Amino acid sequence: MALKLYNTLSREKEEFKPLEEGRVKMYSCGQTIYDDVHIGNARAYVVWDTLRRYLEYKGYSVRHVQNITDVGHLTDDGDQGEDKVEKRANELGLEPMELVETQIQRYFEDTQSLNIERQNIVPRATGHINEMIYYIKEIIQNGYAYEAEGSVYFDVEAFAEDYPYGEMAKKDVEQLKSEAQARVDHDDNKRNQFDFALWINADKNHAMKWESPWSEGYPGWHLECSVMSQKYLGAEFDIHAGGKDHIFPHHPNERAQAFAASGKGQSKYWIHNEFIRVEGEKMSKSKGNFYTVRELLQEGFSGDSIRLYINSAHYRSETDFSKNGIEKAEKELKKLRKAYKLSDGEGLETEAEALEKEFLEFMDDDLNTPKAKQALLKFAGKVNSRGEASEQAGMTLRKLSKVLGVDIKTPVSAREASMADMLLDVRDNAREEGDYKLSDFIRDQLEELGFEVEDSDEKSKWY
Ligand code: AMP
Ligand code: ZN
Repeated sequence: MALKLYNTLSREKEEFKPLEEGRVKMYSCGQTIYDDVHIGNARAYVVWDTLRRYLEYKGYSVRHVQNITDVGHLTDDGDQGEDKVEKRANELGLEPMELVETQIQRYFEDTQSLNIERQNIVPRATGHINEMIYYIKEIIQNGYAYEAEGSVYFDVEAFAEDYPYGEMAKKDVEQLKSEAQARVDHDDNKRNQFDFALWINADKNHAMKWESPWSEGYPGWHLECSVMSQKYLGAEFDIHAGGKDHIFPHHPNERAQAFAASGKGQSKYWIHNEFIRVEGEKMSKSKGNFYTVRELLQEGFSGDSIRLYINSAHYRSETDFSKNGIEKAEKELKKLRKAYKLSDGEGLETEAEALEKEFLEFMDDDLNTPKAKQALLKFAGKVNSRGEASEQAGMTLRKLSKVLGVDIKTPVSAREASMADMLLDVRDNAREEGDYKLSDFIRDQLEELGFEVEDSDEKSKWY
């Protein structure tokens, strides 16, 4: 069966065929590293990690590159405003790299808690300034960029004569021109207001700046992704992912730079995840209406349940954030874990095979994770009401859950398991003797530690 992915370039679900058999090269636009990972960022990273896991499950070897933006992303997403990292560092009285160092550490902790595998390469923008300068030189040489007052701009009009520009956003150049012209913050250095900066001449007080042939300055935000993706994946690769906000201007600009420098358009498939909103409003760091992963973990939600919650919606559907949704996912996890634990008996082999086939069909259909999850839950329900299934069936359930990013093997060590067994023995004795105070106490304590206790007339069980 073939995987189909919705390609934003064609606005259609297309059959996925990698450029090189058996290998997938994939790039995704990662965190601007000045604050903690919020639930919206988490959605993006979970979706791409799920895609990577699914590709690996299907037998591909995957090279996944996801950048860290530590310079160049300005507060208005265009060429105006302050550098987000530098602005936050100033507010905190830190060196920009001091802030970045702390945030990178926190970023890996947060993403790890959601079982997001560390990408094969996690390049940082500040580590690739030389390559960026070289890339800009190529673009100038090819006639698609010009210098003005120490800054360098991409010449959209010249480019659009030779290559497609508005394709991804489904906007023609005239439309973009009038939109840009309508903006109040005109930049007199630009030939056209829709031109965008490749290199920005830094003013005196700017902290992060580098020597270049044009000025002491810093790179434009879009540039880093063209440069680092080409360096690690080549001028043409398979999948480029990002949040929906990147459909314009970030991705068309990345792609234009790539065409302008190398004659090739970067990626074959462009996929974009929808946003998570909060009470119908756009969630953004600047609005302050965002939940960080860290806060949610501190409130007691588990990383596994947040992960399953995110995968409970299709990546191209807009969702409204809800803590109830995470609680529901926690219950679903319990159901899956219970089924896995009960799979040390017999039966449901044929059903497990059918489950895997169904799971595959759903995931092949543009990663339909909500339906794939439902199929797992339905199967777990069967195991739980039967009270047993074969080891093989349990292994299938565990393998498929892992594709969605959750491990349903009860995360307890052998020592913890035997302690829980012992406590349950004590509790069963207490119940026999009518000491319900003690038996309730033991149950409550076990449940506090995450063990679900199921009473039975013979011997109680925990999950
Ligand atoms: P940023 O740190 O703003 O550069 O964002 C990092 C990644 O998260 C980008 O790929 C964004 O498109 C994505 N992203 C940001 N906010 C949201 C959101 N609310 N929902 C989904 N994805 C988001
Ligand atoms: Zn990017």
